[in-house]
Amino acid sequence: MTARDTAFEEVAPGVYAVGHAVAEGKNAVLLGGRHALPVDAGTHASEGAAMADFVGNRGYEVSRFALTHGHGDHVLGSEAFAGCEVYAHAFTPRVMRRQIPAWTDRWDMSADEHRERLAWPTVTFTDELTLDLGELTVRMFPTPGHSEDGVSMYIPERRALIAGDSVTTGIVPAIGDGDSRVLQRSLYRLMTMEIDVLIPGHGPVMHGVTRVREWLGWLATYLANIRSNARDLSAASMPAEEIVSRIGFDEHVGDRLPADKHGMPRRHAATVEVIVREVLEEAEQL
Ligand SMILES: [Zn+2]
Repeated sequence: MTARDTAFEEVAPGVYAVGHAVAEGKNAVLLGGRHALPVDAGTHASEGAAMADFVGNRGYEVSRFALTHGHGDHVLGSEAFAGCEVYAHAFTPRVMRRQIPAWTDRWDMSADEHRERLAWPTVTFTDELTLDLGELTVRMFPTPGHSEDGVSMYIPERRALIAGDSVTTGIVPAIGDGDSRVLQRSLYRLMTMEIDVLIPGHGPVMHGVTRVREWLGWLATYLANIRSNARDLSAASMPAEEIVSRIGFDEHVGDRLPADKHGMPRRHAATVEVIVREVLEEAEQL
């Protein structure tokens, strides 16, 4: 095994989780007997290229690629898949257009160059799309909320789910350009499924139907509890910043996630800020 191969972990037969550097990020590769499907490509061209090599070295054509959503740390490394059939939600192209400048600034890359080189979606869907890879089937369906274009991919033969950032196991839920109420509904939907292997957008791969369902429940409850806390405080006419500061990390995250990793308290505060904004907007509309 080469050093580069060590980032590829076979988590179920033909289902690989591929680590990348951003907050324990996970791409995925499916080797389905007849076709391969790499999913997401990380931030750097070298990350996508390693995935394309991995697929090619195992005798598969590099002709298909899929995106869980259009955020930079999932699409910026996709150059190796330009020219492929690229599957994504119908909103992904506009999310990509919106996100690229911020990410390329952050990583000191040229936005124009990237726009040209990236693998842009060629097959988009709003409802559901099923791909037959031979021994594996991939059912893609919307799980928005982290972003408006979020999709998850379920492989029934392995009871495996590639969730993108709709599900995180190593960081608190991030709302990004989405909506916490929508994300909560997506999490409830996923809880009805039999998921034995979960590849999250960020964090460790999780095994076991009960464990996965329990975790999805915790993520949904985290969002719901913050919202009800925010509603109570806003009813007392407290200013937004004070509400945010009162919805504490210890109370809502506790020891579920490590406080000293990935700037966790800052991530919690960012999620709280979005939810407080949603709650105050709701109150204004009443
Ligand atoms: Zn994202």
